[in-house]
Amino acid sequence: MNQSETVYDVIVVGGGISGAMAAIGAARAGAKTLVVEQYGFLGGMLTAAGVGPMMTFHAGDQQVIQGTTGELIDRMQEKGQSPGHIFDTTGFTYTVTPFDVEGMKRELEMMLTEAGGELLYHAMLAFVETDGDQVTSITVCTKSGLMKLTAKVFVDATGDADLANHAGVECTKGRESDGACQPMTMKMRMMNVDTQQVRDYIKNNPDEFPRLEGDVNKIDKASRISIGGFVKTLAKGREAGDFNFPREDILFFEANNVGEVIVNTTRVLGFDANDPWSFSLAEMEGRRQALEVDRFLKKYIPGFGNSVLVYTGPQIGVRSSRQIKGRYTLTGPDIHSRKSFPDTIAHTGYPVDIHSPDGEGTAHVKPEWGTFCNIPYRCLVNRQISNLITVGRCISVDFEAQGAVRTTPTMGAVGQAGGIAAAIAVQDAVPVGDVDADKIQKLLLNQGGFLCV
Ligand SMILES: Cc1cc2nc3c(=O)[nH]c(=O)nc-3n(C[C@H](O)[C@H](O)[C@H](O)COP(=O)(O)OP(=O)(O)OC[C@H]3O[C@@H](n4cnc5c(N)ncnc54)[C@H](O)[C@@H]3O)c2cc1C
Repeated sequence: MNQSETVYDVIVVGGGISGAMAAIGAARAGAKTLVVEQYGFLGGMLTAAGVGPMMTFHAGDQQVIQGTTGELIDRMQEKGQSPGHIFDTTGFTYTVTPFDVEGMKRELEMMLTEAGGELLYHAMLAFVETDGDQVTSITVCTKSGLMKLTAKVFVDATGDADLANHAGVECTKGRESDGACQPMTMKMRMMNVDTQQVRDYIKNNPDEFPRLEGDVNKIDKASRISIGGFVKTLAKGREAGDFNFPREDILFFEANNVGEVIVNTTRVLGFDANDPWSFSLAEMEGRRQALEVDRFLKKYIPGFGNSVLVYTGPQIGVRSSRQIKGRYTLTGPDIHSRKSFPDTIAHTGYPVDIHSPDGEGTAHVKPEWGTFCNIPYRCLVNRQISNLITVGRCISVDFEAQGAVRTTPTMGAVGQAGGIAAAIAVQDAVPVGDVDADKIQKLLLNQGGFLCV
């Protein structure tokens, strides 16, 4: 087995939005930082699974996600790779943030390397070595075989809590009553969509778009269109045998580029993202549904007649799988009551948004306008391993709370805080559970973060 001679301060496993921001946060705080990522680029679901737009950086008019995640968008906007935060025309949340995928891959790499961080691509976590309450090394699978890597503190940003699970951290999965997870979705990137035709159709058919509550002129409030609906057309297609899986609406979002649209409509139910055999079957079912949706869109939806399906990405989108059981588990009631915590490290104004694990339907609990909920540091820290921080969608939250915190701006903010905490744990030579929350908050503010504690 190869062994890297470098002992890193911080190794982040997983280079999605939470891992990238964790690594940038740690490196800017002075830690010698490495990101290990299974693909050949950063961004996770945003760049590997066609997820987009980022939603939402706001709670009412207040931008509650700032810091390095906000900076990423500012930098991309300057280069014409994002229109920035624009009004959400679906009527679902406050703002959405479209972006150019290739631009994001490169910008994340630049932010990381400018901060002094390093990258190891095409490396998948294979094994975790522990000694008592410490992770002593990880082993990754690479093109040159197995490779051992060591660090003082590890950050699990795999989305699935792979590192935590390998290290023996207690984890839960899915809905408390039966373990069922939100469905997966094979996202589709379509080009050559005539979005003016889509806008005209919406204005002339308000009853197709119940989410807009009759106010179809909303769709002109943003430079890019986001829309969920076509409910009658969908019913017609279903009756004709042209749409054959449980989904209540057609949902899509215009991306940064003219004529480019991200379709979020397939619904892949009953598979397990943590079981490689089941995960493989989910990919195949997702692709089957994607081609069905492609045919449906071209036949039934105005503006899609000449569209081209250009991409389903290297991976199906996974909304939820394992969650670590941390020192605190954020709950649905905490989200609804906007419970405050002394160790808050991130906020979100996103609603509770749960795609039904049972079939059709998406539960959507809209918060009171302008309010936001609070995520405490203790959700990132487990009770078994003293040098492991978890960031991303697998932090310690219950099924309902996960529906509110899981989206990408929030996960970027949580990641940055986790990376900063990892750097402090190294500098102060303390277990991650003993890192002073005040210090994390101060450093987060110094790094441009938004906190209201
Ligand atoms: C279908 C779908 C639609 C969504 N729509 C939106 C939306 O419109 N807007 C929005 O903001 N959010 C949306 N989300 C939510 C959002 O995409 C995720 O919750 C978010 O990306 C989670 O970020 P993360 O960093 O925790 O994980 P991920 O983005 O999943 O990143 C994890 C990273 O770790 C890597 N990795 C995983 N395991 C290993 C391993 N063992 N070894 C090495 N590397 C590994 C992966 O390759 C990946 O790069 C959607 C999610 C899905 C699935």
